[in-house]
Amino acid sequence: MKTEEFWEVIRSHLKKKLTSQQFKTWVKPLSFKENESDLEVLAPNQFIQQWVIDRFAKEIVELGKENKYKKQIKFLSNKAKKNIKPIENTAKLNQSKIKPEDLSPKSAINKTTGLNKNLNFENFVTGRANQLATAAAKQVSEKPGESYNPLFIYGGVGLGKTHLLQSIGNKVKEENKDFKVKYLHAERYVTDVVKAYEGKTFDQFKKNYHSLDLLLIDDIQFIGKKNRTQEEFFYAFNTLIENKKQIIITCDSYPKEIQGVDERLRTRFSWGLTVAIEPPELEMRVAILLKKASISKINLPEDVAFFIAKQIRSNVRELEGALNRIVALSNFTNLPIDLILAKEALKDLIAVRGRQVTVENIQKTVADYYKIKISDMVGKKRSRNFSKPRQIAMALTRELTNLSYPEIGNYFGGRHHTTVMHACEEIEDQRLDNQSLGQDLGFLTQVLRG
Ligand code: ADP
Ligand code: MG
Repeated sequence: MKTEEFWEVIRSHLKKKLTSQQFKTWVKPLSFKENESDLEVLAPNQFIQQWVIDRFAKEIVELGKENKYKKQIKFLSNKAKKNIKPIENTAKLNQSKIKPEDLSPKSAINKTTGLNKNLNFENFVTGRANQLATAAAKQVSEKPGESYNPLFIYGGVGLGKTHLLQSIGNKVKEENKDFKVKYLHAERYVTDVVKAYEGKTFDQFKKNYHSLDLLLIDDIQFIGKKNRTQEEFFYAFNTLIENKKQIIITCDSYPKEIQGVDERLRTRFSWGLTVAIEPPELEMRVAILLKKASISKINLPEDVAFFIAKQIRSNVRELEGALNRIVALSNFTNLPIDLILAKEALKDLIAVRGRQVTVENIQKTVADYYKIKISDMVGKKRSRNFSKPRQIAMALTRELTNLSYPEIGNYFGGRHHTTVMHACEEIEDQRLDNQSLGQDLGFLTQVLRG
């Protein structure tokens, strides 16, 4: 059989096996070259080369045998001209060579205020998970010092606390050019206190902080167990509040549960308004992805956005990470972003995810299932509506993760490890007697294991 004929045999064979979209993406771009002994199947890039090898090399070689096509078939990439042995099929596209794009808002930080212009309300997506927090943030930025003081925003990692805090700062600064606004991470505050202490410059330090119009302090949990810092912060806090200057605080837990922070500070943190940011639900995750894409001028089809949002459930930062991978692979291969490419780009991530269950995931899944809020699940409320799902989530965490009892206690609002042990035992006892509980547990485990 002549090579031209055999080439047609290959194409029509693949056409039968693939959707027209797949055929267009993966097979159309292939070409061939031949010499006396070899047929070279040429892919436009390494990615397509690898794809063809992984899925069809064996079949194509078989086709050759069936059709008595004598030449040896090789699979090459136009660019690299690198021969990857088809049958052994060992080479893998090395994804680590692909540089991830950074789609998180570019950093452009003002030295005096600590504000990053790119973290603003305009590119912050609102949904059920952050509605209350966003509304409070907007209200406070319109009337700093006059509504809730302090505003205390809490929630898990990567859910947008810093973004929201920065948005308030930017908005206030925009409306009040001469306001003294300062954003800082609590760790930075700790360092400042140490420096002031060592350099005996507490007067200057106090003057700086006590004269602010707006203090935005991020991740306040970092002042835990730092007594000197807490004392200073106590003074700064009192001075600012007395003078009707706005304070906004973010934290990974709600005020009463912050570890190692003095009672008098914790009480003060809840003087104003305390709002939670919850993990976003599916539609909101899709909206965030589409927003990120449009900001970065990336053509992201909706079905791909849904695909990513379904895979990545825990937080927004990971959502961005997944999108970054896809964009990087698209740039690297020069292929448009579609489902096939997205699956390829996220395949490692999805494989790992399938096996590893996170506490966040368990809390969210159980809370959704019993229709309660995550804040109530980790919170103090004792009614059965909350305590039962809480115990179930703790027991599932024990079963599905490698966390110890004290670690689980920490994830559930800083509960004592004996509370966790008790919860696990109770669920274990009850599941035998209570059929519907057993069914719930079975269902939840299945969902979580994926
Ligand atoms: P946290 O401070 O809670 O750990 P960040 O504010 O740093 O989380 O958010 C992590 C990333 O996710 C940032 O790049 C941020 O811009 C983005 N992000 C979080 N929430 C949203 C949202 N609602 N809309 C748009 N981007 C978001
Ligand atoms: Mg943060």
